[in-house]
Amino acid sequence: MANSRFEYVKEFETHMRVLPETYIVIRIDGKNFHEFSDYYQFQKPNDIRAINLMNASAKNLVLKYKSEIICAYGESDEYSFILRKDTQLYNRRIDKLTSLFVSYFTSQYIFLWDKFFENEVKLDYKHLPMFDSRCVNYPNLDVIKDYLTWRFVDTHINNLYNTAFWGLILKCGMSNREAQEKLSGTLSKDKNEILFKECGINYNDEPEIFKKGSLINKKGEILHIDVVKSINEIFKGF
Ligand code: ATP
Ligand code: ATP
Ligand code: MG
Ligand code: MG
Ligand code: MG
Ligand code: MG
Repeated sequence: MANSRFEYVKEFETHMRVLPETYIVIRIDGKNFHEFSDYYQFQKPNDIRAINLMNASAKNLVLKYKSEIICAYGESDEYSFILRKDTQLYNRRIDKLTSLFVSYFTSQYIFLWDKFFENEVKLDYKHLPMFDSRCVNYPNLDVIKDYLTWRFVDTHINNLYNTAFWGLILKCGMSNREAQEKLSGTLSKDKNEILFKECGINYNDEPEIFKKGSLINKKGEILHIDVVKSINEIFKGF
């Protein structure tokens, strides 16, 4: 049908591009993973199999686009991929970047599922994972560093809350509602104290992968480090 009189419909397509010479962040996030994690009975607050699966999927994506990616950072059901400001990947087209990243990630996640959940839990075709994706443009390195810091701080806040919440339920026998009420309005130091005194958990002794999330560098190495302290090192040369 090439060059037919119908071809004019192609003119309706728009090709939005990310501004040149600006950093690109593509963030994917699991759709309704609250329910997804319930359905597959993820261990709470952190199922290490699910985290390792997210990391392995993201690592394969980083390796596929290794010349374009500075680093990637993940926690829970999300991952952010930070691209060089001079990348020409897919001509910087927003629809291509968002759709291809999320579809490659999702393919990896499904393909690798059995490796991490082994035969304990099988994926059910009525409950397959979906991820959303967005592409955001950042003008300079300072904002990019703040972006990564924002996600890192979020990991800490969420993990401290979730560890305390599930500690109260699993170790102290509280109901979800009681745990929620107990934590309402508390500061970080209060949560640390509740965990220590009431649940017998020293938050400092929790695994780094839970407390710090996962940073994947250009080489595809997965690190669980203090992103804020390492921020200048991570972006050296970019
Ligand atoms: P949305 O579709 O708006 O993103 P959501 O249910 O996915 O909704 P999120 O804010 O993305 O909400 O939260 C993801 C949820 O997935 C967490 O709150 C947690 O319940 C669950 N989850 C993700 N990863 C893990 C994990 N490794 N172990 C246990 N639970 C997890
Ligand atoms: P782009 O990434 O730009 O889409 P492409 O290689 O996917 O590049 P398309 O114009 O989308 O290019 O064409 C898809 C190609 O895939 C076809 O030209 C054909 O070679 C191949 N293909 C797709 N479906 C089939 C099929 N069912 N049987 C054989 N070949 C197929
Ligand atoms: Mg969301
Ligand atoms: Mg989600
Ligand atoms: Mg999320
Ligand atoms: Mg094609």
